[in-house]
Amino acid sequence: SSEAPPHQQKDSVKVAVNVRPLITPELLLGCTDCVTVTPGEPQVQIGHHVFTYDHVYGSTGSPSSLIFEQCVHPLIDSLFRGYNATVLAYGQTGSGKTYTMGTNYTGESNCGGIIPLVMETIFKKVDAFEDGTEYLIRVSFIEIFKEEVFDLLDASHAALRLDSGFVTKAAAPTRVPIQIRETANGGITLAGVTEAEVKTKEEMASFLARGSSSRATASTNMNSQSSRSHAIFTISIEQKKSSTASDKLACHDYDILSSKFHLVDLAGSERAKRTGADGLRLKEGIHINRGLLALGNVISALGDDKKRKEGAFVPYRDSKLTRLLQDSLGGNSKTVMIACISPADSNAEETINTLKYANRAR
Ligand code: ADP
Ligand code: MG
Repeated sequence: SSEAPPHQQKDSVKVAVNVRPLITPELLLGCTDCVTVTPGEPQVQIGHHVFTYDHVYGSTGSPSSLIFEQCVHPLIDSLFRGYNATVLAYGQTGSGKTYTMGTNYTGESNCGGIIPLVMETIFKKVDAFEDGTEYLIRVSFIEIFKEEVFDLLDASHAALRLDSGFVTKAAAPTRVPIQIRETANGGITLAGVTEAEVKTKEEMASFLARGSSSRATASTNMNSQSSRSHAIFTISIEQKKSSTASDKLACHDYDILSSKFHLVDLAGSERAKRTGADGLRLKEGIHINRGLLALGNVISALGDDKKRKEGAFVPYRDSKLTRLLQDSLGGNSKTVMIACISPADSNAEETINTLKYANRAR
């Protein structure tokens, strides 16, 4: 069976904090650094608040490769053993979520971020295995916007977006939302979503780039490029084992081992009032908060040993985000939340909110 021993389930959620350096606009405004990382400890201090996590990456800027090695690489190993995994980047707009994940991938080789390293590592592993296993690797890329799921790889949708600059708002074609379905054995699927089969790292990267460019954005006072949506890049792997190869793995009852890896660039966590938005934007803010609120509740329920032993209810159904991730959070799945923060004193209030949210997840 695929049940992991209890000691494996215990650490199913890990939390890291990534403090980005002050950026030019902050320096120009005369902002100062108000976040201190305790040397040699996974601990941050801001004002009189002190928080400790599994990992903290410091304000001089940590390379994605370090975060990848410590937080994400172990998830890829368990992915190949048949377990689902999720990496979530959380934080206010401008805190470095997209930079950290690499979700704005354009195809340039040095753009950094976690996802390009994930792609490279997966194909290195596949190429290195010589046990006769066949691999079927697929990617999908969706976003959740105002509690609806959209396919970022839908080719017709990409074309519509290019055109929409030339048509009136009323005439602009609307995207068709995708329905979330639950399979008989508790798996989650998206009805009709594009699942592109990929055979190389380059092919996978091209789908990341395509989806990144069609991601919905709307301007706010905080950041004109900020995204108001959750973006989820999913890599699924099917391994077909030859009969002699599988003893050491968790799959010996099955011919095909399936697992998926969700890489999630969450919507900005700032409260709607902070964006100074109009009625429309505010409504988006409320919906986004539903996903982030539900995620916080799910992750805190999963992280609470006592509650989990009592079989406590985990409120996956409270949002599209948590429904979609339901079979990849908790249980045997591995989850890493990376809380991204700005060190600027002007962001201190939101930074404390982010650190508190991340603290609940532990
Ligand atoms: P978010 O996705 O959370 O809105 P971004 O990833 O777009 O934030 O980052 C906001 C700005 O900060 C961008 O200009 C980005 O290049 C910069 N930035 C983020 N993280 C870092 C980092 N670790 N080092 C240097 N610049 C960073
Ligand atoms: Mg972003």
